[in-house]
Amino acid sequence: MSVTYDRVALIGLGLIASSMFWAMKRAGLAGEVTGYARSEETRATAREIGLCDRICDSAEEACKDADLVVLCVPVGAMEAVTRQIAPALKEGAVVTDVGSVKRAVIEAVGPNLPEGVHFVPAHPLAGTEQSGPTSGFAELFDNRWCLLTPEGADADEVAKLRLFWEGLGANVDEMEPDHHDLVLAVTSHTPHLIAYTMVGVADDLGRVTDTEVVNFSAAGFRDFTRIAASDPTMWRDVFLSNKDATLEILGRFTEELFALQRAIRQGDGDHLFDYFTRTRAIRRGIIEAGQDTDAPNFGRRSSK
Ligand code: NAP
Repeated sequence: MSVTYDRVALIGLGLIASSMFWAMKRAGLAGEVTGYARSEETRATAREIGLCDRICDSAEEACKDADLVVLCVPVGAMEAVTRQIAPALKEGAVVTDVGSVKRAVIEAVGPNLPEGVHFVPAHPLAGTEQSGPTSGFAELFDNRWCLLTPEGADADEVAKLRLFWEGLGANVDEMEPDHHDLVLAVTSHTPHLIAYTMVGVADDLGRVTDTEVVNFSAAGFRDFTRIAASDPTMWRDVFLSNKDATLEILGRFTEELFALQRAIRQGDGDHLFDYFTRTRAIRRGIIEAGQDTDAPNFGRRSSK
């Protein structure tokens, strides 16, 4: 794989940005990579661990002369960051993002970019519950999907960004932004909300039977606690900016839950058996598609 962009700027230096940096280095995808994070502490850590070729003390400095700028901040911070970097972007630069919600990011970023700068939104479907600059690893995107939601962006720039993400290890597809937000509400956002809720319920019970919840934590609940350990800022922003799709899916979820509740109350074993048979088949489909495991943990560092 040869260099795709001479200069890449990473704005925000958490799990996704740091994984992108290590994956870029692994594949030799970029000439120089600059990085910026808002806190001095994160910038110091990044310098210490050799994250990015150059860590800058301002977002504008990091973006100067960049061919590709990747916004790796929480969804709710995208607009302010875009306004900040806009004057520093060079003509012909490509701005992309990694936000978990697409319509809200398009509305936050697109109108604030200067003429002559391309915008190609993206979302890598890869992550862990860890966050911060030390949490990234080069293999995070291997065999994961990265969805581009270009909506009228320059076709050559879309093709180039696709090559870049393939170089990072991902499979790439394109999707319409609203459809992306609905699909992700089903596959990621609502499941996170359910995990947060289940852990909250157990915590309430835990006030009574504290050690029982911890000691007898079975696999299902343990998985919930892992998901519910995800970054609170990131997930607050996801729900606030994908409100309609999340509420739509939550409504459907609640209806299904009531139906299962009724089946249990009425002793309707057939209903439960048929339901679980259908969901088991979905799991098998995921395994056949090779999407059943988390990205390998090579090189994972401790959380910040
Ligand atoms: P992270 O590890 O928490 O890092 C976030 C970075 O953004 C940090 O460098 C932080 O700076 C900076 N930041 C936070 N709030 C900011 C603000 N108000 N203004 C400017 N900078 C700010 O986050 P991440 O997991 O890499 O997520 C980054 C983006 O990727 C999010 O949009 C998220 O939706 C998306 N995403 C995440 C995952 C996942 O599983 N984690 C997966 C796919 C996509 P400081 O360190 O200085 O505070």
